[in-house]
This record gives sequence, structure tokens and C-alpha cells, in this order.
Amino acid sequence: MRTGTVVIIGGGIGGLTAAIALRRRGVDAQVYEAAPQLEAVGAGIMVPANAMQVLDRLEVGEDVRARGMAIHRGDLCDARAGLLQRMDQAHAERRYGSGITGIHRARLQEVLASRIPAHALHLGRRFASLRQDESGVTVSFQDGAQVRAGLVVGADGVHSGVRSHVRPEAELRYSGQTSYRAVVALDLGGQPANTAVEVWGAGFRFGYAPVAPGEVYWYATRDAAPGVRDAPGQAKEELRSLAAGFPAPIPALVEAAEPHQLIRTDMFDLPGLRGWHRGRVVLLGDAAHATTPNLGQGGAQAIEDAWVLAEQLAATDDVPAALRAYESMRAGKAHRVINTSWRIGRLAHVRNPLGRALRNWLVRCAPARTSRRQLDWMYALDY
Ligand SMILES: Cc1cc2nc3c(=O)[nH]c(=O)nc-3n(C[C@H](O)[C@H](O)[C@H](O)COP(=O)(O)OP(=O)(O)OC[C@H]3O[C@@H](n4cnc5c(N)ncnc54)[C@H](O)[C@@H]3O)c2cc1C
Repeated sequence: MRTGTVVIIGGGIGGLTAAIALRRRGVDAQVYEAAPQLEAVGAGIMVPANAMQVLDRLEVGEDVRARGMAIHRGDLCDARAGLLQRMDQAHAERRYGSGITGIHRARLQEVLASRIPAHALHLGRRFASLRQDESGVTVSFQDGAQVRAGLVVGADGVHSGVRSHVRPEAELRYSGQTSYRAVVALDLGGQPANTAVEVWGAGFRFGYAPVAPGEVYWYATRDAAPGVRDAPGQAKEELRSLAAGFPAPIPALVEAAEPHQLIRTDMFDLPGLRGWHRGRVVLLGDAAHATTPNLGQGGAQAIEDAWVLAEQLAATDDVPAALRAYESMRAGKAHRVINTSWRIGRLAHVRNPLGRALRNWLVRCAPARTSRRQLDWMYALDY
């Protein structure tokens, strides 16, 4: 592989995994992260079987499992707690050797960062711009520092700055929905163990899953205009009233969160972007194919990207050919995730009572093999 130093912009899930995968191949991969400390937002994440298989190949999977919680089942319910659909992970565990692991994001990030030497992780370095010439790329940071790279990987998330150097015309699409997330201490007691639950209301939904003993990650989404900020205490007050009629333990989960713990994120995606590379700059993860989170696959797709990019770069000295192969192997699945997740997001937020009744009936009647097929295309790795 003739990449020289690979500069990765962004030390999130995708950037850190890419650094691990590349360094295992003997590449000098260096991560530049804007945050002064690697403290992931205080939320959880579901790491599904496709991502767990990659993490196992990178010999990180066991650490992730040890610091998270196995999720054996996903229950989708209506607001009266009636079961609409059960996603049993036993099939995935048998077929792919792994189901879902629920984990605090900070712990996932710690595990990933622990596999990268300190000298390859540069914190407090905010990417500003880059310039390509015949022999490489000069990357400039906001503090005025510059580094030289043979290849730049833009893993700087949904609002990527690197993307404007690759596909300046790319536009994010707003979903019409905003999300709130928190990790709280609560004993789920009478609830089924190792289970992720999502409850659909009218223009509002709430999901939760254990991420460690006595620790629960929850998220809620509601219809909202983009860019609105909450006044202090307002978000908790609104969530309290939206979740009031929802089944236990949802009201208790909202109560258990301190207002400052609530993380609000407007949900955007980036449908159909092609041309993830230009010269010696390539996009990875949300920077290339941000998705709404309704399938719990955004981070997993970034992890798959990291594996494929490292493998393709290792397979040839022809860097442009490797970048083309990377995109052609990854774009189909990433775009399918974006489109399927978008449709689920619309379905989950139907407000009209008749529409909701019809939707619930259809989801309840869907045969188990349909949900298994859905898991299969997401979980299978064909590389
Ligand atoms: C509500 C919600 C729930 C979700 N749940 C799941 C789930 O259960 N499972 C799942 O797989 N995915 C989930 N996702 C999606 C997942 O969070 C993202 O897809 C994933 O984090 C993308 O990884 P990434 O590395 O591409 O970007 P990120 O994880 O966003 O990392 C980007 C990094 O780049 C850094 N950065 C940004 N700008 C700069 C700059 N200028 N210079 C240097 N560094 C910079 C950022 O600080 C950050 O560390 C969810 C998303 C949301 C909003």
C-alpha cells in the first residue's frame, strides 16, 4: 500500500475504527479530533451484529461486549404497551456469532481509543481546510497548525467540513424530527432482561435499553423544526408531558434524567451521495452517508466502512483504484440503510389515528420471516 501517512479527521466511531484497521495493516494512521478530550456525548449506542463482526475481526469485540450489555430481543410496542413486533436476536447470534451489544458511547470510544497509540491521537485539533497537490495533501487546522498526508480520511460526522472539499454540492435533508438522549441509573426490575424496547405514539416515540447493570440508555424523538434550542428545563418538562401516558418504566426514565443530561440532536440524513473521494481525500461514516437513526445502523455503517477501506488500501498500491473499490462495495448497503430508515421514521411518527391503527395492524401482522430478512441484509457482511 502506497498511501504514506493517512490523516483521519474525526475521532468518533468511524475515525477510531479506521485508525485501528489501518494501523493493523502497518499504515501510519493519525487521528485529528476537534474535541480537547475524547468524551463522547453521554448517550448509549446499540452496536448491531454487522458492526460486532467487524470489531471481532479487529479483536476489539470482546472488550466491547465486556463493557456493554447483550441485547437478545427488541420489542416494538404501541403506546398502550401492546406488542407490535418482536425482533429476536437468537437467529443473528446463531448465524453471525453475535447479536446486539448495548454500550455507553463513552465506553465504546474508550475501548477503540485504547487500541491506538497516544502519539497517533491528536486532540483539540479542529480541521479548517486542505489543499491537494501532485504528491499529497496539506491539511490545515483552526489553530494554524498544518500536517502533510498521503491520504486524508474525512470521518468528521454528519456536518463534515472535509465533505465540502470532496462534494461541495452535497446537501443534508432534515427529517422533521429531533431526538433527545440520556443515560440514567435505574433498575429495570420487572422488565424483561436484555431487551431493547421502542414505543410508538403520535408524532412521538420513546426507546430504551440497558447498557450496563443498573444503567439504562433512552432516547425520544418528536416532530420539530430544525435548529430550535430548548430553554433550561424546558426539554424535560415537554418530554414529561409527551411520555405521560406511556407504559412503565418510561415516565420513570424521563424523571431519572437531570435536565443537563439531555442531549438534543436534530436528525438529518444524506441520501444518495456518490463520489465519496476526490484525489487523495475520501469520506467515511456519516460524512459520506449520514442516516436517520431508526435502524440503529449509522455507527455500524461507519465501522463497516473502516474495515473495507483498510482492506482495499491493503490490497493494492493503486490508491485511486482502492478508493473506487471501497465506495462501490459500501455505497449500496449504506444507501439502503438511509432509505429504509427514512421510511421507518415517517411510519413511526404518523399522527392521524386511523393511519396509526392501520400501521399498527400491518406491523403486527408482518410475518417473523420479514423481520428476519431485514436483519439478514443488515447483518450479513459480504467481504
Ligand atoms: C439519536 C441517535 C441515535 C443513534 N443510535 C445509533 C445506534 O443505536 N447504533 C448505531 O450504529 N448508530 C446510531 N446512531 C448513529 C451514529 O451515532 C452515527 O452514525 C455515528 O456516530 C457516525 O460515526 P462517525 O464516526 O461517522 O461520526 P461521529 O461519531 O459523529 O464522529 C465525528 C467526529 O468528528 C469530530 N469532528 C467534527 N468536526 C471536526 C473537525 N472540523 N475537525 C476535527 N474533528 C471534527 C467530532 O468531534 C466527532 O468526534 C444514532 C444517532 C442518533 C442521532
